[in-house]
Amino acid sequence: MNEEQVKVDRYAKSRDAFAWAKEVMPGGVNSPVRAFKSVAGGGDEIVPVTVKSGKGAMVMDVDGNEYVDYVLSYGPLILGHAPEVVSAAMSKVMRSGWTFGMPTEVETQLAQLVTDVVPSVDVVRFVNSGTEAVMSAIRLARAATGRAKVIKCTGCYHGHSDSLLVQAGSGATTLGVPSSPGVPEAITQNTLLVPFNDLVALDAVLKEQGDEVACFVVEPIAGNMGCVPPQDDYLEVVRELCDRHGVLLIFDEVMTGFRVDLGCAQKLYGVMPDLTCMGKVIGGGLPCAAYGGREDLMRQVAPDGPMYQAGTLSGNPLAMAAGLATLEVLRDTDAYGVLETQTASLELGMKQAASDAGVSVYTTRVGSMFGMFFSDKPVYNYEDATACRVDEYAIFFQSMLHQGVMLAPSAYETWFTSTQHDESVINMTIDAAAVAFKKVA
Ligand code: PLP
Repeated sequence: MNEEQVKVDRYAKSRDAFAWAKEVMPGGVNSPVRAFKSVAGGGDEIVPVTVKSGKGAMVMDVDGNEYVDYVLSYGPLILGHAPEVVSAAMSKVMRSGWTFGMPTEVETQLAQLVTDVVPSVDVVRFVNSGTEAVMSAIRLARAATGRAKVIKCTGCYHGHSDSLLVQAGSGATTLGVPSSPGVPEAITQNTLLVPFNDLVALDAVLKEQGDEVACFVVEPIAGNMGCVPPQDDYLEVVRELCDRHGVLLIFDEVMTGFRVDLGCAQKLYGVMPDLTCMGKVIGGGLPCAAYGGREDLMRQVAPDGPMYQAGTLSGNPLAMAAGLATLEVLRDTDAYGVLETQTASLELGMKQAASDAGVSVYTTRVGSMFGMFFSDKPVYNYEDATACRVDEYAIFFQSMLHQGVMLAPSAYETWFTSTQHDESVINMTIDAAAVAFKKVA
């Protein structure tokens, strides 16, 4: 068998599964980046693997191949796949009913924990997705200020709600869709754009239109153009500028929340937003997200106040139990210490492997969020990120996949590790990368 046949046979069942999926779902997927379009190399030689199961740091596909997983469902699985403690918490709920449309104790327990550990969050409302969380926080900011405009950063992704689907990074960038048809101009004209890490641009927009702006929404660590940390005092000065113009500051911590610190990125950087959006880790891998913040703002949410927002399955016990079990582990163990050590050694090993192969990469990392750009230059914003050599990433991705390492198919995604990514899987990843970088060189 030649190398091509090995590849085809290795993914035979995935190929069949995906052919079927494409008949009944757009692109065969339920979220665009999963379709592997960016790394397919223009042909049909690579299809998304169809996953059968996951355990710890590993996922298994329908052909029986195993992969070290750095996608981790795009971030939620900080304890790895199927941790016993979370599945036990969910099993308990599954024996006693999982949605009632009435209050349950477990939602208050999770709300208590969140408000205890996230410094700026006094009161919290649970929703079902990050999209909903940011959409609702912006509605609240508009309600509270009586202003219509919103500022966001190019390349930051805040979910797929209409007003935020402008230069939205991640999947939209991968597919070359800066914004989407179907979003009326009347909606996006209230969305103003500035580059991430650019205080001069933010200052200029605020000087010009500040009194019409309800909020500045920002990922405190941009994670949807690859991983791009804030520079120096960026977040502090952002806070000052917002205060100067009466603009509310919303941190979209859907990705960073409970991922970089139990108190989220705001604790790590010591900058407090007015409102915080959380998602991913907060639900332990179930559909769950939240927005919260200062008491006076959150009391404007119905039924305490007039800002309407609701949800049939919001705060459902299954997601609450999974989230609570996950956050309790993060609170009660040295999870963040473990994540820091393991991901630091991943970063070091990747840099070394790239340099040994003569490939220039720029790496970034905050705790267990890791970014690797095929670039000779540092990456501080969307312009830098999109100047990277994505064709090299595609080669690298394919080689890693064939060697049993699952990366996100888009060059514009953050890599995530879990507490289960121990030395042996990190070393295996670095060995695979040494081979993959040679293919790129
Ligand atoms: N905000 C950020 C920073 C995200 O990374 C994402 C998703 O990746 C979202 C919002 C949207 O969350 P969801 O996909 O749960 O709607």
